[in-house]
Amino acid sequence: MLFIIFCLLFFSSSFAVDSKTAFRIEKSIKDHYQEIINTRRFIHMNPELGNREFETAKLIASKLLSLGFEIRTGVAKTGVVALLRGAQQGQTVAIRADMDALPIQEKTGLTYESLNPGVMHACGHDIHTAIVLGTAMILSDLRDKIKGNVKFIFQPAEEGPPRGEEGGAQLMIKEGALENPEVGAIFGLHVWPINIGRIAFSEGFVMASSDSFRITIKGKSAHGARPQEGIDAIVIAAQIIQGIQSIVSRTNDPTDPAVITIGKITGGTRANILAEEAIMEGTVRTINDINRDRIEQSIKNVVKGTATSFGADYTVDYNRGAPSLYNHPELAKNMSPTLLRVVGHPNIKRIKPQMVAEDFSYFCQKVPGFYFMLGVQDPQDNNPAPLHNPSFNPDERSIPLGIKIMSHLLLDFLDHQQQMDNPPH
Ligand SMILES: [Zn+2]
Ligand SMILES: [Zn+2]
Repeated sequence: MLFIIFCLLFFSSSFAVDSKTAFRIEKSIKDHYQEIINTRRFIHMNPELGNREFETAKLIASKLLSLGFEIRTGVAKTGVVALLRGAQQGQTVAIRADMDALPIQEKTGLTYESLNPGVMHACGHDIHTAIVLGTAMILSDLRDKIKGNVKFIFQPAEEGPPRGEEGGAQLMIKEGALENPEVGAIFGLHVWPINIGRIAFSEGFVMASSDSFRITIKGKSAHGARPQEGIDAIVIAAQIIQGIQSIVSRTNDPTDPAVITIGKITGGTRANILAEEAIMEGTVRTINDINRDRIEQSIKNVVKGTATSFGADYTVDYNRGAPSLYNHPELAKNMSPTLLRVVGHPNIKRIKPQMVAEDFSYFCQKVPGFYFMLGVQDPQDNNPAPLHNPSFNPDERSIPLGIKIMSHLLLDFLDHQQQMDNPPH
């Protein structure tokens, strides 16, 4: 404990961005402000779905090339990875933005509303992209202060690739986004429904894992008035739903969160025909991997037991999605003084793990990661639309703070690493 306190004190005093550099960051953000906002609005007007972010990637690549960065395009289909080499030697730290939009028809009425029918930046990835691009512009002005390299990762398909395609963070890692040079830590953020000027995060688990399943029950159709001659897939499905809902309520430790939702059910053809087939689709969210494995097995057991007791056939397609998102506790602790300095104690909220998911977690499995939520809610707005809603409108005045936090985090991290690699004698 004493060692941690010592580290925190040492870190906050010796490794921090000094006031002159902080002033330069402030000024650089002001200088680039209009370009950054224009870029965000352009991306918002031209949203693209996962693995199809062609124009978004082109725009990002051209901006980064004009800054003189070394860039790789076409990583994980449309991803862009750019490297900024600092004036001094040191480790490499990464920052990641997701670029994809959602299949939603926008209804915000903004002057820069989506021009792409049925596609909208309803998860704020346009803001994330603008923040990371803005951070690239600011750190490019501060090259002399960078003790190592900063890698900028623009990732496609965070919301999931189209059916049958690979994509997202996992594919970016597979295609070497964290290598050449090797990354020592990674930072990411998400817009969040808290007041502008505030951030939220937790040390340890931040978000849940996200798995999906599809259960098919094969019964036997018969006349609706002669059930003894058939096997009713709908009655079996109803019992399976009850059974599955009991997994969390009756077999799970209540202090260790888990959610199972069956969001879709289809079956049958007509009121007086016994349903031959019923299909259920759902999602499973867990924080720890023991629960994750156990719930998968329990769902399979419930389906098997229920279906066979009625003499029905069944299949369970179970797909593992992103693992739970874990903030490296030591990295989170080390970066705390930076966050306190930039955002201020009253504006930092510690939160419990959220049951939503984020594929940034794949990066965090490979290298220490730190992920936080950035407030984008206008305090004057009494009825803000939630994420993934056609009226979602994050306040873009949050962008400069996002850039400022990221710039300080990245510089402090590299400073810290350099001091650790070369301790004073
Ligand atoms: Zn989303
Ligand atoms: Zn998102």
